[in-house]
Amino acid sequence: MHSVNIENDYHKVFEGLLQRIKRYDSTADLALLRKAFNFSYDAHINQLRVSGSPYFEHPLEVAKILTGLKMDYETIAGGILHDVVEDTNIDIKDLRREFGNNIAQLVDGVTKISELKLLGFETQQAENFRKMLLSMVKDIRVILIKFADRLHNMRTIDVLPKDKQKRIALETREVYAPLAHRLGLARIKSELEDLALKTLESEIYQDLAKRIQSTKDERENAIRRLTKPIRKALAEAQIHARFEGRAKDFNSIYNKINKRGVPFEEIYDLLAIRIIVEKLEECYHALGIVHSLYNPLHERFKDYIATPKSNGYQSIHTTVMGPEGRKFEIQIRTELMHRTAEEGIAAHWRYKEGKMRDDDFDKHLVWLRQVLDFDDQEPDKSSFMEHLKINLFQDEVFAFTPKGDLHRLPLHSTTVDFAFTVHTDVGLHCLAAKVNGRIVPLSYELKNGDTVEIITSANQRPNEDWLKFVISSKARSKIKKWLRDSKFESSISLGEEMLTKALNKFSIKLKNIDMADLAKKMKAKDEKEMLASIGRGDIKIESVLRRILPEDEKDKTEHNVFSRLIEKARKSSRGIRVAGIDNVMISFGKCCNPVPGEPITGIVTKGKGIVVHTNDCRNLYKLMQEPERIVEVSWDVDNSNRFLAGLYILGERKNNLLPNLSDTITKADCNINSIKMTAEDSLVTCILSIEVYDLDHLKRVVTKINKIDGVISVNRFNE
Ligand code: MN
Repeated sequence: MHSVNIENDYHKVFEGLLQRIKRYDSTADLALLRKAFNFSYDAHINQLRVSGSPYFEHPLEVAKILTGLKMDYETIAGGILHDVVEDTNIDIKDLRREFGNNIAQLVDGVTKISELKLLGFETQQAENFRKMLLSMVKDIRVILIKFADRLHNMRTIDVLPKDKQKRIALETREVYAPLAHRLGLARIKSELEDLALKTLESEIYQDLAKRIQSTKDERENAIRRLTKPIRKALAEAQIHARFEGRAKDFNSIYNKINKRGVPFEEIYDLLAIRIIVEKLEECYHALGIVHSLYNPLHERFKDYIATPKSNGYQSIHTTVMGPEGRKFEIQIRTELMHRTAEEGIAAHWRYKEGKMRDDDFDKHLVWLRQVLDFDDQEPDKSSFMEHLKINLFQDEVFAFTPKGDLHRLPLHSTTVDFAFTVHTDVGLHCLAAKVNGRIVPLSYELKNGDTVEIITSANQRPNEDWLKFVISSKARSKIKKWLRDSKFESSISLGEEMLTKALNKFSIKLKNIDMADLAKKMKAKDEKEMLASIGRGDIKIESVLRRILPEDEKDKTEHNVFSRLIEKARKSSRGIRVAGIDNVMISFGKCCNPVPGEPITGIVTKGKGIVVHTNDCRNLYKLMQEPERIVEVSWDVDNSNRFLAGLYILGERKNNLLPNLSDTITKADCNINSIKMTAEDSLVTCILSIEVYDLDHLKRVVTKINKIDGVISVNRFNE
């Protein structure tokens, strides 16, 4: 019975692990770990790895790696169960029931990361990938399980097809190894890097391996000659120390050769050893001993004990001239510093039992914040545990461009935010968006890993409504600025129009006026500012005329502007009753095209009589700054009057869209006044001017248009 034997072997391995766990954590729940073992074994029972060996070997190895990091029993249980949700028909609910919420959440976290497709990313985007990864992790232990998982997969990568090997190795080199480095997991980092190098540059790797092997004896002898006097002197000073002949990892040799052009011989000429002592002050004592025996190269001395690296790394580095004129790189550190250097955050994890002193606690918080780039968050001092349940990048969302660029945005960002992140011009002209190939509303809220394609149009402009859903400060400020600028522009043209018309009455041409001089007299910053002020009503047209006109004309100005208009206006007041006035020239704001039923306001406008705007027209607010121009108006229509309404329709590019549109509109008892259709990529925009009786009629038509196949959105069109 083959399978029973295997199971027995695995049991033996696992019982060995349990013994190790018990040694460093006497409170570990071994019964739960045995249960996790059996559960995972049963779940994977019929599965094989690509190599042909039983799948269970993989989670067992992952648990072994985590035990090596002296992780708590929940993490180890999470490690042994990490693939059951992804690869078998067991779900998170089952795990929660069997093993409780903590372990279920660990497995859930690992599963979510595995589902993430990091395919085809650009190397320069790798930092964002790392952040995206962290954004998905609510508990730092998830990352540790993932590292163990990746490490074992890299160790056994040879059996996979070449292209898959390459993809996984690249991802390991660009995303996982740097992340391990940031979290201070030096050993895992260098093994991941070496395995990635072995896969990606196998010839170079084999060559390095051969050369390192062939010089091994010689190097070891040289180290022995160097360390012998040091050992003796340390013993005399009663300093307990152990030595590590440090093999430089392949990847760092490769980088030196490749990126810095240093020949192999030179790199390997530089021998490296590590002296590990018990107490901090012994580091400096040991350093003194080393320097008294060998001449230090002063430019190579670094004290990372006094000034730790940002990932918490502490050590003294010195390079000395050893016997036979050979250079030796020596690192001196305490056991604790050594563990932190090798295991990083995993070493810190073990402090959770609360044995730390308060100042240590703060120091670790600082350290954690540094390694995790906690830039803008206030440290919450509730507990150290809570800090390992990181809340990092979880207020952010990550989405791709179709080319695979990854952008980082605040949580709840929409496609418009994304467009502004790509480029301001893209944002200002974004018409529609496709997410993962499907058209979505501009207000669509992005999810991690979405691929977003923004469709732009030169005719599209930002809309006040966008401010209701955009999240990022960039989008918000750019939209606001655009709206402000465009209001400024329209105030300028209104001001210019008002001034031109007022001057016409006195047969003066605007172009004959020294505008710069006039602006100065009106105490405006410049010509544009003055015209805008006139348009907004901040500067009265009469006071401008007084500056321009000769003395005898001035008296006339008081009455001219308003009264003349009303006298002149003898047009039919199409459907509008104006309180207290008859026979007024009436027109409708082109900006809003009001239809009966909508709340309206009249504005006395030079040259146009009373212009009627809807109460929510975006121009009305500015026009109302001059209260004396406001006139109360109301609808007074019989059923025969028709009114123009503008519609802005966005649809998919389909052959029958136009006939469907005109058919629907005609059937709804509407006349089409004008139609302008523009195709952009796979989209069509259509600006329609239709004639309706009133607001209800318009609403009915819009409802019907919305139902046409291919129509994405219908809005009132405002010029
Ligand atoms: Mn796995």
